Amino acid sequence: METAQTTQQSATQAAWSKRPLIISGPCSAETEEQVIATAQRLANTGKVDVLRAGIWKPRTKPGMFEGIGAKGLPWLQQAKKITGLPTTVEVATGKQVEDALTFDVDILWVGARTTVNPFSVQEVADALRGVDVPVLIKNPINPDLELWQGAVERISRAGIKQVGLIHRGFSSYGNTDFRNAPMWHLAIEMKRRMPGLPIINDPSHICGRRDILQATAQKAIDLDFDGLMIESHIDPDNAWSDAKQQITPERLAEMLGEISWRKEDVSSEEFHHALEKLREQINHVDDELMQLISQRMNIAEKIGEYKKNNNVTILQSTRWNEILEKATKKASKLGLSEEFITKYMDAIHMESINRQNNIMNN
Ligand code: PEP
Ligand code: MN
Repeated sequence: METAQTTQQSATQAAWSKRPLIISGPCSAETEEQVIATAQRLANTGKVDVLRAGIWKPRTKPGMFEGIGAKGLPWLQQAKKITGLPTTVEVATGKQVEDALTFDVDILWVGARTTVNPFSVQEVADALRGVDVPVLIKNPINPDLELWQGAVERISRAGIKQVGLIHRGFSSYGNTDFRNAPMWHLAIEMKRRMPGLPIINDPSHICGRRDILQATAQKAIDLDFDGLMIESHIDPDNAWSDAKQQITPERLAEMLGEISWRKEDVSSEEFHHALEKLREQINHVDDELMQLISQRMNIAEKIGEYKKNNNVTILQSTRWNEILEKATKKASKLGLSEEFITKYMDAIHMESINRQNNIMNN
């Protein structure tokens, strides 16, 4: 006989393995009415798999809304009962894990401010020992993949079998378009390191605003992410936290309808053949680039010998500025972005300096 509990477990399993996995709900649970109305409107879209809501909110500064606390957990339970949507909340302490599980929260997530702290992650992991619940782990606020991986290892070692990642961007100083810089290459690297783990993108906390949310979500889908976590609210402008980035459930549905969902692969032979040919060309060009770079470094070493014999500094700023200026001009004619070419030239230059340094000082 299927009990209510096993039905719920299979609903959670179905959601966990669905692609794309769509998680949505308010940044914070505020009132019972708000949680239930959001859940109902999300369920009505037919596009959402899991209901999220922050119960305990780690805020950067005191005096802001720090979450409704455990009293919001029965609201989520009720929302699930009405809509059938499995629920997920952020946990940062052992007590919060215990409380969330007592109220049948189906999926837990570790927030960015917790992933940075091995003591906290370990406390959460210890509270999870012997429990069978899926756990999503957000990237740490700083761009440190070791910390992110470390958190995954701590949670896995506690016996949690279903672990996933959430990419929510990284803190940076100064104004950028994003609230948290996406640094997509880090998410891609994490995918490479932990290929078995699903990775969800959280465009809400990356963007911090509504107007670039869809483009960011699209980018994640183009990069083969497994799903999206997007904050939604029945009255976004008056949300108690993260008001600027939340959208209504109906806007969410519209947005999800406008996203082009990509396949990772297709079986068409023609497609594979064409792709194979282009990939061969890329491999060929990569080979040549590497040969050329190696030649360039050999020349730099010769220069290093001359500099050593004449006791001249390695770095000659005027010459370097000249090279850089020429390169950016040429790059723009060739359709290469200034950002890319600057990074590329910096890397080449640093390697060249290192080579010359070896010559000069060995
Ligand atoms: C959140 O999801 O509301 C949240 C606090 O996120 P993060 O940990 O990414 O800041
Ligand atoms: Mn939030």
